[in-house]
Amino acid sequence: MSKNSTVALAHGMDVQENVTRVFDMLGGVTNLIKPNTTVILKPNAGHAAPPEFAVCTHPETVRAVIHEVRKANPKRIVIAESAAVGCDTMECYEACGIAKMAAEEGVELYDIKREKDLINVAVRDYRSNISHVKLPRLLLEAEHIINLPILKAHASMVFSGALKNIKGVVQDQVHTTMHRQNLTMAMMDVWSVCRPDLNIMDVMSAASGYSPHTPTPIELDCVMGSKDPVALDRIACELVGIDPDGVSYFKVADEVGLGTTNQENIEVVGDKLDDCKKKMWVPYLEDIRNRWPEYDVHCDGACSSCQALLTLNMETLKAIGIYDENKGMTVVAGCDNKLDPNTPDKQIILHGNCTRRHLKEHPDAYFLPGCPPGEGSLYMTVVRKEPVTGQPELMPWIRQRMEDDAPAWRGYVEKEAEKFYGSNK
Ligand code: SF4
Repeated sequence: MSKNSTVALAHGMDVQENVTRVFDMLGGVTNLIKPNTTVILKPNAGHAAPPEFAVCTHPETVRAVIHEVRKANPKRIVIAESAAVGCDTMECYEACGIAKMAAEEGVELYDIKREKDLINVAVRDYRSNISHVKLPRLLLEAEHIINLPILKAHASMVFSGALKNIKGVVQDQVHTTMHRQNLTMAMMDVWSVCRPDLNIMDVMSAASGYSPHTPTPIELDCVMGSKDPVALDRIACELVGIDPDGVSYFKVADEVGLGTTNQENIEVVGDKLDDCKKKMWVPYLEDIRNRWPEYDVHCDGACSSCQALLTLNMETLKAIGIYDENKGMTVVAGCDNKLDPNTPDKQIILHGNCTRRHLKEHPDAYFLPGCPPGEGSLYMTVVRKEPVTGQPELMPWIRQRMEDDAPAWRGYVEKEAEKFYGSNK
């Protein structure tokens, strides 16, 4: 890729104006989109959350992109998504307001999960265990794909922007496989077979805090765009005060050639980054080494995904009032930890595939497989005193328990957000 990547930044209350400016700064829509082509818009609509939660790309941002793309006279515009595992894409479109907007605009909504016309694409030099990915013919044959993420904090990836949004072009089976191994590498493999030509990020509002499930939205009134998803994610991090070095998968994305994280190679055009900055609350990035002194937490060598999940789970224990009664437990994540051989196995939780080796010395410890493991599996394991690893037979129990715990958790998050933002959200 070329040495210099451009990231366009437009700040203002009018989302249409922002989107148009971003397209103009990146070369103009008629230069970016060929006439009489199929244009896929890939928003982030993976959860059934209302627009004001800022978890899904806002329908007005998607509408603004549709208006802009129409100037290039495409043959067809299609909004395409495959919602998170366990979520119905069409329900998500409805909940986040994209369905209503698409009906008003006369634009097709497409559920990747329900597509039967798939092509099994080989992943060259695959880095995870995914040697092939089944993708809809529509996506592979479309002349243009525009990635439309929203900026948010994320429980299993710390930060969600352009790179992470492409995880949502695969059906559930691939999605589940991705979560059973190194998710970062699996994400890179999906990018290698489905690479959007443009990324437009919705930063009008962003989901901070314990997003995506318990978001605390903040207003930023920005739209950003770039052909380089890595540079875009990096600059978006700077916009909201996230240390890009704290997001492990950026470096990998740079190494595999998806773009650059090196600030010296990135030119920001448009409004001044410094004038638009607003510090975002991302509890997943707070130092976790001494954060729960009542527990014996070992996290040397843990990457940001496992650190974020530890944070989510340990804080959940506090929120639901069972933190104190389980103190003394040993929690392990990452590959560089030494454990006291005398620690009783039933006091140890091994979080993630990196910790599997401790099973030799502690065969009866609670081992949570995954890279990273499922989002609530650590706290559920503490509650149940048996590993919770996403087994289908446990799903009803997990859903019920999460529903029961939701009010306490929500109240806890609101208090924490208040401590961070005061009245400055
Ligand atoms: S299991 Fe290991 S490699 Fe995978 S996310 Fe956790 S710390 Fe990272």
